[in-house]
Amino acid sequence: MTHLGIFGGTFDPIHYGHLRSAVELREALSLEQVRMIPCHNPPHRDPPQASSEHRLAMLQLALQGSQGLVADDRELRRNRYSYTINTLETFRREQPDRRLMLIVGADAFSGFTAWHRWEDILDLADVVVMARPGSVLSGDAEDILRERQVMNIAACRGAVGNVLMRQLTQLDISSTRIRGWVASGHSVEFLLPRRVQEYIREHRLYAG
Ligand code: ATP
Repeated sequence: MTHLGIFGGTFDPIHYGHLRSAVELREALSLEQVRMIPCHNPPHRDPPQASSEHRLAMLQLALQGSQGLVADDRELRRNRYSYTINTLETFRREQPDRRLMLIVGADAFSGFTAWHRWEDILDLADVVVMARPGSVLSGDAEDILRERQVMNIAACRGAVGNVLMRQLTQLDISSTRIRGWVASGHSVEFLLPRRVQEYIREHRLYAG
């Protein structure tokens, strides 16, 4: 059975922290693909600053020519709140032979028990948690780990719902800081792909 990585985010904008993590996980876990899925309007946080169309366009530019990382616009096409469980259900229907690996940062995983139908998510997918600079897991997240943690991908056989923690190259980059630097007229060079920087300039995104 092949494994499909599912990596959602606001990607407002996409940066090397996201991209490098996706590449490393694809290789380390032998994922056939990593689908990178911008969310339309996240239920747990403020709406993104850039429109869905801009965020998708930046993601597509960033992934041009990349091996196995694929921009997937299914949540944007849905045109309403994005719940991860609904997205996983669409993959389950479309690709019943693939094992789904949901990729989340440690910060996002800390709030996992607040996600819509979070227990159902664990009936459909394994979860890969990326350690992130400075992030500490919440008590709820620790409890899930205690019950479900496995140490390697080989243990992800049989029933899904395993949780795998991965240490990746730590790039302390966040979209929030990038937006702040753009707004204050500072350079964001080497934090995100050049094509994405040009797109931001051209469309005057994140300007104060
Ligand atoms: P913001 O600063 O706007 O909150 P962000 O940089 O955290 O954005 P998101 O699009 O919200 O980016 O993140 C999508 C996913 O990528 C989340 O699971 C998040 O934890 C993870 N992520 C974001 N930045 C990094 C990074 N530098 N290293 C590893 N994972 C990251």
